[in-house]
Amino acid sequence: MSHDQEVISKTCPCGSGKPFAYCCEPFVQGQKPAPTAEALMRSRYTAFALGAIDYLIDTTAPEKRGEDDAEILADQVKYTNWTGLSILSTEQGGRSDELGCVEFEAAFETEDQAGTLYEKSNFRKENNYWLYVDGEVEIRT
Ligand SMILES: [Zn+2]
Repeated sequence: MSHDQEVISKTCPCGSGKPFAYCCEPFVQGQKPAPTAEALMRSRYTAFALGAIDYLIDTTAPEKRGEDDAEILADQVKYTNWTGLSILSTEQGGRSDELGCVEFEAAFETEDQAGTLYEKSNFRKENNYWLYVDGEVEIRT
């Protein structure tokens, strides 16, 4: 754990190369909304990496939230170690857009496997806050 914290204090888990405090931290901490769909996607990856479950639920479209989300997410963050993010493409999702799509790959490790999660995610903006709606997910191990 202390090793992870050291890494986080240097650069953001999302792989932007920027310090955490100048990248995803203000979004994950709720200090300001992510300005673009890609920024939200990155901050959600970071939230997965850090176990910021409330942020993951808050940034999911209300109609897509489930009663068991907190439990499911708690299990996921406990057993999955996210080891890298690559953004493959983005469509819309800019500051003046209401909808956006982000295609990405996220590398992960669990106790018994390592793989890549590929996803094309859909986002929409509501009251200036981007929300994750749904996505096409493929797990490659
Ligand atoms: Zn970041």
